[in-house]
Amino acid sequence: MVMTLEKVVRVAACSLKPNRPYHVQWLITRKCNYRCEGCNVWRDQDAKELSTDQVKRGLDILKELGVTDIVFSGGDPLLRDDMGEILEYASRFFITTVYDNGSMATEKIDALRQVDFVAISLDTLDAKKNDYAKGVKGAWNKAMQAIETLHNEGIVVSVSPTISQLNMNEIMSFTNYFIAKEIPVWYCLYSYDTCMDSHQLFNIGKRNDKLEIVDNQRMADLCDSLIYLKKKKSNILITTKTLKAVKDLYVDGKRTWKCRSLQNFFMIDHLGRVAGCHLRQPVTSIFKLPQVWDSEMFKTLRSEYRKCTGCIYLCYIFYSIHGSVLGNVQLAQDRWRNARLLLKRGFTPLSVAR
Ligand code: SF4
Ligand code: SF4
Repeated sequence: MVMTLEKVVRVAACSLKPNRPYHVQWLITRKCNYRCEGCNVWRDQDAKELSTDQVKRGLDILKELGVTDIVFSGGDPLLRDDMGEILEYASRFFITTVYDNGSMATEKIDALRQVDFVAISLDTLDAKKNDYAKGVKGAWNKAMQAIETLHNEGIVVSVSPTISQLNMNEIMSFTNYFIAKEIPVWYCLYSYDTCMDSHQLFNIGKRNDKLEIVDNQRMADLCDSLIYLKKKKSNILITTKTLKAVKDLYVDGKRTWKCRSLQNFFMIDHLGRVAGCHLRQPVTSIFKLPQVWDSEMFKTLRSEYRKCTGCIYLCYIFYSIHGSVLGNVQLAQDRWRNARLLLKRGFTPLSVAR
């Protein structure tokens, strides 16, 4: 991971500009080697994807637009042969995170030295339960080995459980286990795609009754416990403000945020198509984005999306809450204690950076 002074200055400057698309999630491949219970990606894979040069051209466009952080997911992004080159390029300008289901990280470890965060999906400390959720025997072992290897190599690896009815009761012990090892935890929330738009960008979440959270009070209590733990320990990467919003949602169904899809965040798929979120249909391509970003069409879509209550995907809640200048400042405050992770492991003065 290389956190140059140039990058720090760029990210800080972009974060303070209003109405910019700060967060982008790039679903860079639709290939996956796992068979997760709550996911549709593996059921409908696609070998087609943008070339390395096209991805780099897209990254140049995102830089010009003022994007500060990019999350690469998919599918499993590390299944792309050129992912090392892409991560090296992206990490020069953006806070870069890459997801892995735990199967590829050890093999691609050199590529991962470039990025700011590697997030490994792991749902529970119970190997059998985890392998059931991932649909692959041995997934738990591989993920645990990957986390340990990356951590020992000085790469900022975080563990990313998807909170569901299946593992809700274990999330506190899971969190305590990893933060005791100084491994940060970032959460996803089990959700599934509703049939909002039959031409949606990327079909991901599949309905599964075993995973669906039905115990609302227990979920609210979990949010409280995480908020309490965050006061004492760093390495819990979700913000207090987001946890409070999730709690309100589960206690009385109140949505305390407005969706900022296509405003402060958007999604790109493996073919370079852009949509406000993966449940909405593509509205342009990454290569045409600068021409339409300030268009009337986008303004209309933004007001429609602001009223939308169509999903509870945690990343969208987080991006919506921290999708303004004020939100970015709150995010910076919340993460201040975690900043030492970056500083300790990888800050490089400009003069000695690449
Ligand atoms: S959740 Fe991720 S790892 Fe699992 S099948 Fe879907 S894309 Fe693959
Ligand atoms: S609430 Fe926002 S992120 Fe969720 S489906 Fe609606 S537009 Fe998409």
